[in-house]
Amino acid sequence: MKISRVLVIGGAGYVGSHFCLFATKNGLDVTVMDNLSKGYRSALRCSEFIQADLLDYDNVLMRFSEHKYDAIFHFAANCLVGESVLDPAAYYRNNVISAYNMLEAMKATGHDKVIFSSTCAVYGYPKKLPLCEDHPKEPISPYGRTKLAIEWMLEDYNKAYGIKSARLRYFNAAGCEPDFGLGEDHRPETHLVPNVVRFALKLSDELTIFGNDYPTRDGTCIRDYIHVMDLADAHLKACARLDTVPLIRFNLGTGAGFTNLEVVDSVKRISGVNIVPKFGPRRPGDPAELVADASAAQRDLNWKPTRSDLDSIVKEVIKWFSTCPQGYPS
Ligand code: UDP
Repeated sequence: MKISRVLVIGGAGYVGSHFCLFATKNGLDVTVMDNLSKGYRSALRCSEFIQADLLDYDNVLMRFSEHKYDAIFHFAANCLVGESVLDPAAYYRNNVISAYNMLEAMKATGHDKVIFSSTCAVYGYPKKLPLCEDHPKEPISPYGRTKLAIEWMLEDYNKAYGIKSARLRYFNAAGCEPDFGLGEDHRPETHLVPNVVRFALKLSDELTIFGNDYPTRDGTCIRDYIHVMDLADAHLKACARLDTVPLIRFNLGTGAGFTNLEVVDSVKRISGVNIVPKFGPRRPGDPAELVADASAAQRDLNWKPTRSDLDSIVKEVIKWFSTCPQGYPS
């Protein structure tokens, strides 16, 4: 079925806003629902905006009753491992209860297709690399557990109520679209690429690399960076796939891993700034290496990352912070 009208929950956030741009460029009519707790108005790329919180079930039900959407894309979530350890209640509330409300509202209003942002944090410490989809799921953080709980909910809602779902397990989302005014702006920023770039551009005065005693080629963690527009592309392809297979899950990564110091080197080379990071202790809950086996998505979705080269990602992030040093206007 050709889709034309979609609802994007969390469409003002980092990955969601890039998805909206991608969907709009692909001719879709995009409505965003966002509570703006983390997202920004100026990151909105949609024809219609609903400010609403999934925790407010009555309002969500009313909004879902107003239009029939061909598919719902669910990006809204709390997504910081460390924060989830300190405040798991917020994660169970904002991730699990919100997703439950969304599914209940879908069920009540006859919406039957959802594409859900999951994470490689559902696997926990890798027993075998690269990680493939049937690797054991033993998440080590409340964040990973909430995402896995929602994956299970989606499975059960499919079996019992026929709601189709794609669960897309992102590795490290990175990159942006500075030419379209979109960037990465988390407050506080905890992610490696923006932190290194901000340090190189003197927008922050400290850069700490967490741990240099991991069993990797240079002692720092290895991650698999996937461009947000490649993620967006996979979302539309996954949505189309639901017409033939009603319950799917895919890893989304490149299959190539970079150490934290290789990321620093890339920023050094491209910015021309000699960055000297400090080394700090390991960050709790950080596996040494997370790299995707994304061959299933490549095969079944006919998806291939085209924008995830690390140096290109770094160039874009430098461009974004050079034009918007303070990020989005708050
Ligand atoms: N990291 C770091 N310094 C920072 C931010 C991140 O050393 O200021 C490390 C982090 O410990 C991990 C890697 O960079 O090894 C990627 O972390 P990020 O938070 O970007 O993504 P995550 O892998 O947690 O999703």
